[in-house]
Amino acid sequence: MARGGTPEETLGEVVRLVANEMVAEVCSIYLLRAGEVLELFATQGLNPSAVHRTRLRVGEGLVGDIAAHARSLALDDAQAHPQFAYRPETGEEIYHSLAGVPIVRAGRVLGVLVVQNRTRRQYDEEEIETLQTIAMVLAEMVAAQHIVSPNEVQQVDGLGLLPLRIDGVQLTPGVAIGHAVLHEPRIVIQKVVAEDSAAEQIRFDEALSAVRDDVDRMLEAHDMQSGEQREILETFRMFVDDRGWIERVREAIASGLTAEAAVQRAFDDVRARLGQSTDPYIRERLSDLQDLTNRVQLRLTGRAALDPSSLPEDMIVIARDMGPAELLDYDRTRLRALVLEEGSAMSHVTIVARALDIPVVGRAPDVLSRVEPGDPIIVDGDHAQVLVRPAEDIVQTIDAAIEARVERQRKYAALREYPSATRDQARVGLQMNAGLLIDMQHLEETGADGVGLYRTEIPFMVRSEFPDVDAQAWLYSRVLDVADGKPVTFRTLDVGGDKVLPYVGAFGDDNPAMGWRAIRIGLDRPAMLRRQLRALIQAANGRPLSVMFPMIAEVAELTGARKLLDLELDRAKRRGLALPERLRVGVMFEVPALAWQLDSLLPYVDFISVGTNDLLQFLYAADRGNTRLSGRYDSLSPALLRLLHFVVEKTRPAGVDLSVCGEMAGRPVEALALLAVGVRTLSMVPGAIGPVKAMVRSLDLNEASAFLASVLTQPDRPLRETLRLFAADHAVEI
Ligand code: PEP
Ligand code: MG
Repeated sequence: MARGGTPEETLGEVVRLVANEMVAEVCSIYLLRAGEVLELFATQGLNPSAVHRTRLRVGEGLVGDIAAHARSLALDDAQAHPQFAYRPETGEEIYHSLAGVPIVRAGRVLGVLVVQNRTRRQYDEEEIETLQTIAMVLAEMVAAQHIVSPNEVQQVDGLGLLPLRIDGVQLTPGVAIGHAVLHEPRIVIQKVVAEDSAAEQIRFDEALSAVRDDVDRMLEAHDMQSGEQREILETFRMFVDDRGWIERVREAIASGLTAEAAVQRAFDDVRARLGQSTDPYIRERLSDLQDLTNRVQLRLTGRAALDPSSLPEDMIVIARDMGPAELLDYDRTRLRALVLEEGSAMSHVTIVARALDIPVVGRAPDVLSRVEPGDPIIVDGDHAQVLVRPAEDIVQTIDAAIEARVERQRKYAALREYPSATRDQARVGLQMNAGLLIDMQHLEETGADGVGLYRTEIPFMVRSEFPDVDAQAWLYSRVLDVADGKPVTFRTLDVGGDKVLPYVGAFGDDNPAMGWRAIRIGLDRPAMLRRQLRALIQAANGRPLSVMFPMIAEVAELTGARKLLDLELDRAKRRGLALPERLRVGVMFEVPALAWQLDSLLPYVDFISVGTNDLLQFLYAADRGNTRLSGRYDSLSPALLRLLHFVVEKTRPAGVDLSVCGEMAGRPVEALALLAVGVRTLSMVPGAIGPVKAMVRSLDLNEASAFLASVLTQPDRPLRETLRLFAADHAVEI
């Protein structure tokens, strides 16, 4: 290929080389053309006059079969295969064996590469792999050189477009079906040098003011009225007025650039300085700035960002990454889901998507290059999957699954009125986890007993500086208002690790999960923790308050934190503020070492909540975010369950409440095991309350506990299957 020449010559050279290297009498390349036809484009060994004459339908003959199923074939007696189709013009009757591989690019079959031999040859795996590698290179070449016009290939409707499954990570749950819209806002700048700088300054001012108005309009939408999504948009709005940025653009214009080129220059400067950073906060700022740059440039070039009439009624937006305002540009009534190549659970666009209640799958590898506009797509946020061009039977299955889900939700909603108690009358506390004000709406909807874990860090991550006490107090007070008397357990800042705050500077830990995070930062920066505690006391304003400290590894850390809390209570008292009517203080049990300090810890706490997400990662020394380890150590291991049983036995006589708030509490089988070892309160994502309650109400806890006790003494192995069988035998809904 490197030698150049016409595409035809190159293909001819490829088949010659492959035939030689593989000692095959024949090597041929078929490419897909309009009308689902595979046409012979190059051959070594078959009759040369058959080139461009031999055509097979997709599905016809062995070559058609390879294309139809996008699978390789290796046959020592090809003619004996029922799919064999003889073409006299090729003169191929004398060849017995055949190996072929599909030429696939971005999930589409572009053609087939075949070798044939006279003898009944057995092609081995290595040879097939070699052919596949060559086919990959061919695919790139066929696409790059437009050997078959892309328009022609597009016309090949349905067939040749393979269904694809892309695995990512769940950013928000839910399932949606729709059609792809590729979000590619890049603007090509036509004119770089300006004739009249003064006129450019005016153009820039006008564009900026139009953008400001657009964002103000977004802020007026009803779902942007409060909560972190509003804060994100407000921060973005502040960006529009950022003097430093505006100054940089103005200087670039003064140096002779057009307004659009100047905006780009300002962005490129910042990106050059910060682009390499892996710090999530800085990346977030960069996506905001990219969003703003695009927005101003769109205004300047007069190009409408999106022509709504050209967009499908059920949009699945696919992007590399996105700023929050960009997502809001799409018509909400038609927006079904979002798929990102990057993105994280805490990114601004995710938080806004959560407010819009659409499923989001992130870190979906190369999704932009594997999807074409208009492709049918299923986004399954629950299983972190994107199904591209799904087969009809899959669409039906998913349709059925969505319907079943609605049905189940109806059933769970009906359960809301019933008590959460087992068949043998053991009462089980079901609480929910929350982290955004918008999550609080689920409290009423699910009938949860309260909020067992309120993760307070998200608002801190959204801002560019530490939120002041009043801002924090406002938010916590709103949370308590919405909770309307139901208990809420606020966990103090659990930052550090992958959740970095720019103004705390917790960078550079080699092993961040075990680094300077959570209460460790809180105790080293007591002013910060004190301000949060002050805000909590202020927000409670005489109402009950429950405070939980994360990542406690030694008793002294709890007593240290408790001292700061007492200082704040004194301060509030001195100032005549209303003190919490009832104060409960607890810790998260995430560090295994705490298990052997319970005797000295218990007198100081009202409750302990087990964070199994971190506990499991420390217990098994297995990074919770490492996909290669996910599933390697089962949370239903006797090791973890015995540890939890030990904690139950310690806390119960001390009268200290115990709950589990890690993700496992929200999975019915895991929840069953937790109840069986003696846990009586579970806190989980809101969507899990219904399924877990259904499990609870169908469970005989005495039976389950006796069963678990008997299997826990057996040699260590995951109990998942054993518990599933138990549930099936005892009609427990899992
Ligand atoms: C946990 O570690 O289980 C937990 C609930 O906390 P987070 O997931 O926020 O670390
Ligand atoms: Mg944790």
